[in-house]
Amino acid sequence: MTSPIEIVNMSPQDYRNRKVALITGITGQDGSYLAELLIEKGYQVHGIIRRSSSFNTGRIEHLYKDAHENPKMRLHHGDLTDSTCLVHIISKVLPTEIYNLGAQSHVKVSFDMSEYTADVDAVGTLRLLDAIRTCGLAHLVRFYQASTSELYGKVAEIPQSETTPFYPRSPYGVAKMYAYWITINYREAYDMYACNGILFNHESPRRGRTFVTRKITCAVAGIHLGKQECLYLGNLDAKRDWGHARDYVEGMWRMLQQETADDFVLATGEMHTVREFVEKSFKATGKTIRWEGSAEEEIGIDDEGVVRVRVDPAYYRPTEVELLLGQPAKANEKLGWKRKVTFDELVEEMVKSDLVGVAAGDVFN
Ligand code: NDP
Ligand code: GDP
Repeated sequence: MTSPIEIVNMSPQDYRNRKVALITGITGQDGSYLAELLIEKGYQVHGIIRRSSSFNTGRIEHLYKDAHENPKMRLHHGDLTDSTCLVHIISKVLPTEIYNLGAQSHVKVSFDMSEYTADVDAVGTLRLLDAIRTCGLAHLVRFYQASTSELYGKVAEIPQSETTPFYPRSPYGVAKMYAYWITINYREAYDMYACNGILFNHESPRRGRTFVTRKITCAVAGIHLGKQECLYLGNLDAKRDWGHARDYVEGMWRMLQQETADDFVLATGEMHTVREFVEKSFKATGKTIRWEGSAEEEIGIDDEGVVRVRVDPAYYRPTEVELLLGQPAKANEKLGWKRKVTFDELVEEMVKSDLVGVAAGDVFN
């Protein structure tokens, strides 16, 4: 690794040419795909992981194996709630790019753990930005902030773009709004290269199992294999713009390769209901679902007349984001970014993967 003494004598261009990335949230869905992409692009990748009594590196196991075997990736224990460790890690790694993907990322959980969500998602971003300055790297490091379509919340216009006003509807959305603005503030106040990626929902076989898409595909696989009887869901009418996580991490990287820092929406420009996601998932295993009843009484029945989907109001949110639909024109134009995986391909890949995982009794998280 390059030492701080060597850095002092480097030109900014030589510093950047080192291609060293630091990822918070590397153990998560996006972190794992981003680490793969950056290693492929010749980066030295460093990740911050939380100490856990249980195993939390399943998604990056194939990349990590052993630091001796794979010197392209290094992991450091740390936490976004601990500024001292952030300063230590940044001063040791001397990154050229930092991707802040670490977060308490579940909207429903944020209602139960609102203070913690604010601490990690909002103040954590501030801690990280400040750690960059403390290390004297404000003009050398490029910074990516994982902003979210949850900022739009109660949407002011359809579709939503970089200019649509925000109206967050959860402690998660509100915390991410602070992170969004503090990123812009540091860009303007300290001339940092700092970007917000306003990403609409993106999924994959590595999505956490408590998010609705993965919950559905795991259950559909379990039902197909006779291991589960019924799937319990909340709001079936919610509409989301769902893309594939692998496409979205490519967009994150592109945001940090521009002349000047800017904020971008990444989305598919297509919207589907939770109900449609359920139907498509069952279809991938050869089942048709028909719906009966309404609201809390609604049920989904398969071809054999067995009830496979029920509504459980426990999954309703105190305030819901009813619909999200993104307008990715700016990213299309300026980043040359476009999603590759379609909605149907996404659902099929997730169901297929869960059929294998559930059969083997081996699924992420
Ligand atoms: P995940 O929930 O899969 O991953 C979150 C990551 O953050 C995990 O690595 C987790 O570690 C880590 N983390 C949680 N708390 C802390 C903490 N206190 N300190 C350091 N790290 C922490 O999320 P995704 O990969 O799906 O999302 C990545 C980012 O993008 C998140 O910030 C999310 O809010 C945002 N986002 C995601 C969207 C999506 O549709 N996926 C849409 C828009 C934004 P551990 O494994 O130990 O839990
Ligand atoms: P979000 O868009 O970040 O909140 O991602 P989620 O995957 O958690 O939720 C997407 C939408 O699905 C939201 O409108 C939820 O209310 C809705 N939904 C319906 N049933 C469920 C469920 O059982 N779990 C989750 N997580 N969401 C559900």
